[in-house]
Amino acid sequence: MRILTTVREMQLACRNLKRKGTLGMVPTMGALHEGHLSLVRRAQGECDAVVVSIFVNPTQFAAGEDYETYPRTFDDDCAKLEAAGVDLLFAPGPDEMYSPGSTTFVEVPGIGDRLDGASRPGHFCGVATVVAKLFNIVSPQRAYFGQKDAAQIAVLRAMIRDLDFPIELVACPIVREPDGLAMSSRNRYLSPQNRGRALILHQALQTVCQLLESGETRSNVLQRALLSVFAGQEDIRLDYAAIVDPYTLLPVADTARGALIAVAAWVGSTRLIDNILTENLPIENLNLQQGWMEETHA
Ligand code: AMP
Repeated sequence: MRILTTVREMQLACRNLKRKGTLGMVPTMGALHEGHLSLVRRAQGECDAVVVSIFVNPTQFAAGEDYETYPRTFDDDCAKLEAAGVDLLFAPGPDEMYSPGSTTFVEVPGIGDRLDGASRPGHFCGVATVVAKLFNIVSPQRAYFGQKDAAQIAVLRAMIRDLDFPIELVACPIVREPDGLAMSSRNRYLSPQNRGRALILHQALQTVCQLLESGETRSNVLQRALLSVFAGQEDIRLDYAAIVDPYTLLPVADTARGALIAVAAWVGSTRLIDNILTENLPIENLNLQQGWMEETHA
């Protein structure tokens, strides 16, 4: 596996890789786990070459968030990617990605201000900006993201559409620990006691699944059930429990036509997220521009 740290080298290397055929990209912030590796494997199954990036992006962290302490396990990450057979790893430093005086940002107002965007103002501006930059550096035909970050997927779909990136976003299922906890780089912050408490996010979603299976589709009933699971729990602070359209992130009154059911909660000092899509929704990419994209990359 080649490891590159500069934008110029990366642009050149990706141009060469694209001669082999379809190029897939998996953007990450490192501290890799099975969730990340599932995206890599999916990309490998669908593309001729796969590029992974590891970059802890400072612009998506607000002051007081965990940018400094975010887990950085670069050697271990490289070993995992090497073993997975990744072709090329892009691992720039912050100064390489944001040259001094860089002032251009990508905003996705509306969608970017909902769910995590409401709780973390500016977060999705940082995400959209860094992903737009990575797209311009790598220029992949396909980019792989986890459904775990459902709001991020909605924001990036809007950005891809609005800025005419000839890139197909592929949304991949959430990978969980055996007990149901969604895998996350931040799970390693949890004390053993809070690791147990963190299961509440999955349990709340399971409760909703049971109601959905019994035929309930009214969002107010489902939301009440979600809230009741969190009520009175020690050391848990619910951030949001939302039932929304997965593309606009706006609330829906009924889930019959498909909905994203998403929760975020602080477990001790660690903020965790999880979600489900009701079954009649595709978790796959929205290939509105498929034909046009194939022509653009031909
Ligand atoms: P991160 O390193 O947290 O920025 O995540 C990089 C990518 O991996 C994002 O597209 C995430 O949605 C995805 N990802 C993180 N955790 C999981 C998981 N448990 N299952 C599937 N994808 C995940």
